[in-house]
Amino acid sequence: MSKKLTILGAGESGIGAALLGQAKGYAVFVSDYGQIKTSFKEELSHAGIEFEEGKHSIERILESDLVVKSPGIAPTVPIIQKLMANGNLIISEIEFGRKFSRAKLIGITGTNGKTTTTLLTYHILKEAGFSVGVAGNIGKSFARQVLEEDKEWFVLEISSFQLDDSYDLQLEIGVLLNITPDHLDRYEYDFQKYIASKMRIFHLVHLGRHAVYWQDDPHIGEGILKATSGLNVHPFSLSGDAAEITHLQNDRLFYVPRDIEVSAPRADISIRGLHNMQNAMAAGNAALLAGATKEQLLHGLKTFQNTEHRLEPVRKLDDVQYINDSKATNLDSVKYALGAFDAPLVWIAGGIDKGNDYSLVTSIVEKKVKALICLGKDNSKLITSFENIVPIVKSTTDLLEAVRWAKELSEPGDTVLLAPACSSFDLFKNYEDRGNQFKEAVLAL
Ligand code: ADP
Repeated sequence: MSKKLTILGAGESGIGAALLGQAKGYAVFVSDYGQIKTSFKEELSHAGIEFEEGKHSIERILESDLVVKSPGIAPTVPIIQKLMANGNLIISEIEFGRKFSRAKLIGITGTNGKTTTTLLTYHILKEAGFSVGVAGNIGKSFARQVLEEDKEWFVLEISSFQLDDSYDLQLEIGVLLNITPDHLDRYEYDFQKYIASKMRIFHLVHLGRHAVYWQDDPHIGEGILKATSGLNVHPFSLSGDAAEITHLQNDRLFYVPRDIEVSAPRADISIRGLHNMQNAMAAGNAALLAGATKEQLLHGLKTFQNTEHRLEPVRKLDDVQYINDSKATNLDSVKYALGAFDAPLVWIAGGIDKGNDYSLVTSIVEKKVKALICLGKDNSKLITSFENIVPIVKSTTDLLEAVRWAKELSEPGDTVLLAPACSSFDLFKNYEDRGNQFKEAVLAL
């Protein structure tokens, strides 16, 4: 008899896992507590896969031989608690896809920079002519791609939620970019638990293969020796003193694995800002370890175009620069965004607070921000944190008003920066929607 596979959560990853599962002979059942997108329902029906929405049929789900869980479902929800108590095996979609893929995997995690680094690594390898795919939180799910066309290499963006449900990925290369407080609501507000989750990336690397990480990060440093035992380590650093490893010195990146020197940024590297130099070091190391040559690395770094909503220049109007960093949903990314500009800043922030400690950015805000426009349903925490630090603080729930105020408050040479430090779900569908509405409003000025 076929093994019973239940997919919890019918997003892109759930649908991919369902289709792959069915192709591999499982009896598949998809269950989503919310509503399933029409196009996904059509896909499931077309493939003859049973599904339910708006509920979980608990008895049926408890009988599963294997459960694939969407990373969006917290482990504390009743259905997961019941499955765990019952001893059911619960894995991520990536873990499930891995069972059926022969590809070598590069797994990239970190609090910030995952998407940028994943896309950059993919870009370098793709341009170099590798048979390579990209998946994780990007585009088509890994499981779906494994089903449609397996590749020699996959570059996977892996969130901590996906790491939590992965056990045997056998990564060829694991990359850990940084660890700063985020998503603490999913880790019982215990930062140590979140750190442990991120460090798991190295337990998922095949013994004897490669670990790439940012050496300057104190939270990585603590446990790194233990976490990477049995692996080849390739740290990188922003410090010019760290000459024996990949590092940044006098605006130049030195890639140690192949003894390559690159000047940074702009001239040789398309992405800007110190944080992106870290991403370029991480991606470059991964690509070199995968076998890219010096010329291929240089070409990839130069020709890479980052995706939208990440320090994305929107427009220059009256000599004021407008920047969309809607993806800056935590304070660490905001700190780098604020650091990337010299000019006085009009900063637009706000949304749903994920437990921010704004004192982490007080000093840089004090130096650079001339006006703060709070854009969220509840702006009280932002206002109390900055009213004595920033000369002008305004509050609204209306994006068009926020953009209008930003124009009024800015002078030639200033930068208007949308870097919310919060998630978007109070006023917008998601961060893309927030960024798109911001861009539209700015272009309409
Ligand atoms: P993720 O996929 O981890 O959310 P992204 O590449 O989408 O990462 O970037 C998210 C936000 O973090 C953006 O605002 C971006 O400018 C910022 N960022 C990118 N790389 C880094 C980094 N290495 N350190 C800190 N912030 C970063």
